[in-house]
Parts: sequence; structure tokens; C-alpha cells
Amino acid sequence: MNEKGKLIVISGPSGAGKSTVVFKAIENRSDVCFSTSVTTRKPRPGEVDGKEYFFVDLDRFREMVENDELLEHAEYVANSYGTPKAYVEQKLESGMNVLLDIEVQGARQIHEKMPEALMIFIVPPSLDELRNRLEKRGTETQRAVEARLIRARQEYEEADFYDYLIVNDDADRAAAEFSAIITAEHCKFADRKDILKNT
Ligand code: 5GP
Repeated sequence: MNEKGKLIVISGPSGAGKSTVVFKAIENRSDVCFSTSVTTRKPRPGEVDGKEYFFVDLDRFREMVENDELLEHAEYVANSYGTPKAYVEQKLESGMNVLLDIEVQGARQIHEKMPEALMIFIVPPSLDELRNRLEKRGTETQRAVEARLIRARQEYEEADFYDYLIVNDDADRAAAEFSAIITAEHCKFADRKDILKNT
């Protein structure tokens, strides 16, 4: 059996309900952990440093890029985001599946560096619905909402390298699909063929 964990990348427009789906899907799974990203974005009300993100300034972010401390990094609507490398490598080595919630440019970097990573794209039922959700959430200015909708359209155009697409029209169903994908991934013949030798 392959003891190493799997890297699971989820992307999709912010406001698509990704985190709700993922939390529902993994609450009963002890084999999946989240990677916490660094960002130069300012915390939203209620966000805690070290929980949703490590909030850093641009100088510190650039230093992390220069020191090769990030597995991938990208800009999203005027802010920088990146995945700290050490945490991910250590968890994968220990056999945990590691989940990255990242946008499409960063996901493409991962796909190129680590083609075995599982790539999942989660979308809301429509972009009108996304606008409603973003406006209702109320954490972004109207201008930022428009910028995020433009970015969402661009991401749809670029997303053809993902393995799976989940439409979040019902969070429970979407979570069940998400969990089924992870389970199926662990049943792959190539990962399990040693079982046949040892039986
Ligand atoms: P938000 O500002 O809404 O928390 O996130 C904006 C976007 O940045 C989301 O699509 C989210 O998936 C993405 N994001 C969060 N962390 C990272 C990261 O470490 N790297 C990349 N490339 N994107 C990230």
C-alpha cells in the first residue's frame, strides 16, 4: 500500500460555498487535513491569524517567495496568496491527505509540479447565484464583487485541467460527491497493487 498522503486541490470562485461543502465532507474523516495559506489580504471580521490564513505584509510575502518557502503562489484580485511548503510536505510524508483551497493559477502550478495531485473544481449553480451570495455575504465592496465575478469567468475558461467538477446546488449532495471522490482515489489500482503481492 502506498503510505503517502494525497494532495487534494480544490478551486472555484470564492463565495461558491466551497468551505461549507468541504467541512461537511471531511468532518468525519480523520485522514484529511487543511493547509493554511499565507495572504497579503486584510482579515475579514471574525478571521483569525493562523486559522483561515496567516496574514502577512507584502515584504514578508516576497521574502517567502525568494526563500522558496511556498509550494505555489498567485495574485487574486489585487492580493497575493501562497501555500507554505514545509507543512504540506510533512503531512503528506506522514500519510495524511492534504487539502489546498487555492485559485486556478496556483492550482495549475501544482498540477505541473505534482501531476498526481487530485484536482477538484467546485462551482455555484450559476454566476447570478454567485453574485447573490457575494452580495449577501457583504464582506466585499461592490467593486471587489465585480472583480471577483470577472475573475470567476476567467477561471471557468482556464479550468479544463481539473479532474472533477462539483456543482454546489445542494451542500449535502456536493459534500457526498466530494467525499466519494477522495474515497475512489484511494481505491486506485496503481496505489493498491502491492496488496495483491502480499495476499
Ligand atoms: P479569499 O480572499 O476569498 O479568502 O480567497 C480568494 C481566492 O484565493 C480563493 O479562490 C482561494 O481559493 C484563493 N487562495 C487562498 N489561498 C490560496 C493560496 O495559498 N494560493 C492560491 N494560489 N490561491 C489561494
